[in-house]
Amino acid sequence: MKTAADELAALRHVASAPPLDVARLRRDFPILRQSVHGKPLVYLDNAATSQKPQCVIDCEARYYAELNANIHRGVHTLSQRATEGYEAARDAVRRFINAARREEIVFVRGTTEAINLVAASYGQRFQAGDEILVTEMEHHSNIVPWQLACEHTGALLQVAPIDDAGELMLEEFERLLGPRTKLVALTHLSNALGTINPVQRVIELAHARGIPVLVDGAQAAAHLEVDVQALDCDFYAFSGHKLYGPTGVGVLYGKQALLEAMPPYQGGGDMIRQVTFRKTTYNDLPYKFEAGTPNVAGVVALGAAIEYVSGVGLEAIAAHERELLTYATAQACATPGLRLIGTAKHKASILSFVLDSVHPHDVGTILDYEGVAVRTGHHCAMPVMERYGVPATVRASFAAYNTHGEVDTLFGAVRKALEVFR
Ligand code: PMP
Repeated sequence: MKTAADELAALRHVASAPPLDVARLRRDFPILRQSVHGKPLVYLDNAATSQKPQCVIDCEARYYAELNANIHRGVHTLSQRATEGYEAARDAVRRFINAARREEIVFVRGTTEAINLVAASYGQRFQAGDEILVTEMEHHSNIVPWQLACEHTGALLQVAPIDDAGELMLEEFERLLGPRTKLVALTHLSNALGTINPVQRVIELAHARGIPVLVDGAQAAAHLEVDVQALDCDFYAFSGHKLYGPTGVGVLYGKQALLEAMPPYQGGGDMIRQVTFRKTTYNDLPYKFEAGTPNVAGVVALGAAIEYVSGVGLEAIAAHERELLTYATAQACATPGLRLIGTAKHKASILSFVLDSVHPHDVGTILDYEGVAVRTGHHCAMPVMERYGVPATVRASFAAYNTHGEVDTLFGAVRKALEVFR
């Protein structure tokens, strides 16, 4: 008869021939070579931010060493080169998410700013009694901007519930789509639960009623292939730093017709066509939404990150992470006293759990002593914690460079935590 250990060994075996050459890939990430508390760093906090390959680090350094100038303004050579680098990154983003036009790609600071932009700008058309529909599994940055828009306009926030597994309850969602619903905003991949939402179906349901949909792709962009035209989403937001790129840069994709009709988010340089004290006219897309000097170095390095990810192959990354998640889930299920939070059928890259006898923060501290970096807390998704009646969870999240051996180290440390607090 097969024991649980045999099953784990079998999983390990299947996983031992992944299409990714993970050992080689790890060499691209200098930070992974270090030790923490005398143990090799096991970095499993990728949902918070992923580590950066040397090519991205070099790209940002080279930008400052060789290219730095302000963009779109100078006739001098450096300014033109910097502008070319910046605009080439826009083309790389367009290809990466298969947007129809480069005008639909707006550079922002990150997902948070992208959603705030839509809430502040598109949200100006909301009226008292209008409804904005989100889900119970949203990150705070896909809740609070809508609450702010509601405060300004008198619109109401509606929340589609999730079930015990952490799946969106589609029938309930559909029931909440009413004549007053003016926008749906939902995450593609939940950062607290790992659930992959049926965004395609959600968009079909919303569009059948003429309602636009914003997809929060903060987590998805690094783990799932995204095709905004195939999805037919109206807005898609993601951050560079979760996609092996730098912090302080992100993307808002918006359908051209919607962006054209929206008022500017911020005023300042670059977003104008002509300024007089009587009347100011605005620049064309996407510059209308890029006021002031942007994070040029960050954008250029995001382009390098996208090139890197595309070179490795998102499909291969996703397959590798799926194996890691399956392997980790099997170990979690074989650990008495461990409860998984988030057991949806379609999941990616995230394993959230609590231990019966140990507070998540204590687990995090013990894991850190073993060199294992996980996130403990509410993951900026307090309503999810409330839904499951827990103050916090331990979250291990995987990236392309993680290994099955690291999953073993994680669970060795978890067992240690259980022993210490027994
Ligand atoms: N949405 C989700 C699902 C996230 O996981 C995050 C980051 N934790 C955000 C939005 C916000 O992203 P950022 O902090 O990069 O703006």
